[in-house]
Amino acid sequence: MCGIVGYVGENKVYPFLIQGLKRLEYRGYDSAGLAISNGSLLVHKCKGRVADLERHVLSKETEGTVGIAHTRWATHGEPNDRNAHPHLSMNRHFALVHNGIIENYAELKIDLAKNGYLFQSETDTEVLVNLIEFFYQQSDEINAEIAVRLALSKVVGAFGIAVICREEKDQLIVARRGSPLVIGIGQGEYFVASDATPLIGYTDNVIYLNDNDVAVITKNNLTLKTLDDKPASFKISRVDRSIGEIEKGEFAHFMLKEIFEQPKTIEDTFRGRISHDHTAIVLGGLLDIFPKLIKAKRIILIGCGTSWHAALVGEYLIETYARVPVEVEYASEFRYRNPILSADDVVIAISQSGETSDTLVALRMAKERGATILGICNVVGSSIARETDAGVYTHAGIEIGVASTKAFTAQVTVITLFALKLAFAKGEITEAHYHEIIQELTEIPEKIRTILAGHLRIEEIAAKYKDASNALYLGRGALFPVALEGALKLKEISYLHAEGYAAGEMKHGPIALVDDNLPVVVVAPKDHYYEKIVSNIQEVKARKGNIIAVATEGDTVLKEMVNDVFEIPESHTAVAPLLAIIPLQLFSYYIAVMRGCDVDQPRNLAKSVTVE
Ligand code: GLU
Repeated sequence: MCGIVGYVGENKVYPFLIQGLKRLEYRGYDSAGLAISNGSLLVHKCKGRVADLERHVLSKETEGTVGIAHTRWATHGEPNDRNAHPHLSMNRHFALVHNGIIENYAELKIDLAKNGYLFQSETDTEVLVNLIEFFYQQSDEINAEIAVRLALSKVVGAFGIAVICREEKDQLIVARRGSPLVIGIGQGEYFVASDATPLIGYTDNVIYLNDNDVAVITKNNLTLKTLDDKPASFKISRVDRSIGEIEKGEFAHFMLKEIFEQPKTIEDTFRGRISHDHTAIVLGGLLDIFPKLIKAKRIILIGCGTSWHAALVGEYLIETYARVPVEVEYASEFRYRNPILSADDVVIAISQSGETSDTLVALRMAKERGATILGICNVVGSSIARETDAGVYTHAGIEIGVASTKAFTAQVTVITLFALKLAFAKGEITEAHYHEIIQELTEIPEKIRTILAGHLRIEEIAAKYKDASNALYLGRGALFPVALEGALKLKEISYLHAEGYAAGEMKHGPIALVDDNLPVVVVAPKDHYYEKIVSNIQEVKARKGNIIAVATEGDTVLKEMVNDVFEIPESHTAVAPLLAIIPLQLFSYYIAVMRGCDVDQPRNLAKSVTVE
């Protein structure tokens, strides 16, 4: 959460900073601000979006070629002008932007106060910038870099920081522990950002910082060391992204663009992984480790939010086809509950950003306890991708809408490929069945195109339900997580309260909510649960609930029975989650738009949750 950008070079820094913040705004949008070093430290910041900052800065001075900027997702202190980053140290020697949480900020603040420090904000960040200044002022021998090191050695918690110093005006210092940072290498200039999106169009060469790295950067020089002042190893990676990926194009919102991209993103996820004759699955990233995976006694899938839903789909598929016991865990619970793990366990972390703090820490714990750890991530070079024994990238492209759509279907695609490959390698499914499901998978993009082509009908149905205040989503089997994901989408972007339930659980509580005001979305394609779920539909109908069914094309029986239908093409059960989620994504999108919500930047949320 929160976006950081920085620049040091020969060009005016302001245009890069403001554009970089716009590209990172999906990471947080409580406030925005920037600081420029030009002999003194210019700081401009305000509550609200980057567009508000742009207006605020109009006619203010922005001259300078070294600077830092921030778009905030508040953890400590309400979103207001004072708590906005950058924070200045009391004597204005330093300006700092920070992503993360300084957990021991309260005690550090007391110590600093004893030394005469006064604070303007409620943030943990302002404590850190003053701590840096405190060390800086202890002796002439202590320069900005040493002061940053000394201060960070006192810090408990997570940080990605960028710092500028009034006296060392041509230099930028960055450091990370727990929160991501990437350095872009230009010609006589360097760029810094929380992820590579702001660098697109500026440079393709980047260095992903590792935890405990500190970089001191001037326009012609980059020194990378560890926090304890040892040389740090690094590698220059290439970022292969185009501007088109980070622009909305003809779409009103990124979310809509990303929903419509799914046929292509799923094809991208397949690329190189399904043989041309559709008879084999190749997961290059798992090649070396596969013999170990075949022997796994248990697979534990961990994730948060939408990734956790993808994990639940994985549980059904892996257990059904590969016959390996699977557990699905919220990373935030798993990491704190002293789980029993052994070398026979495989822990797979699912995270779009590959930076989700809870997932990353849970994974490290699993590694320490001897489990094999794998990652399913979208962002290439992310922390989870780097720290796992092996993994599979989802290749969904940059996802900017805060509510995840294409990243979810890409995760489910990878999990499906994984389950099938494992099942076949273990001899749990026949060759014919293996080929049949692979063939079905390859037909998914075209089937999604058909669903998307019917978007106007989904919009019409959304108009009927836009004023509801609650909604219930029901599904069974691998479509139960789809019900959960559908409900989450609605909550996230339309602020309409929605609950996902396993349809069989409805009688055990949620049925009490059913009345003639309640929309009940039932995921009910023709599969082996069909008869059961039709009974659940009857139970809702008997209580006058309004039923919207996700049904197989041509299912006239269901059409007669329910109020509205989202049709999806017929498919094999194993791949149905990839189809059933599409109308639910569109349904939430249209409802949110009709309710006047900010679809791409829903309140209180941010993408890439890099704090606990
Ligand atoms: N903890 C800091 C704050 O609340 C940084 C939050 C962030 O990562 O945006 O200001």
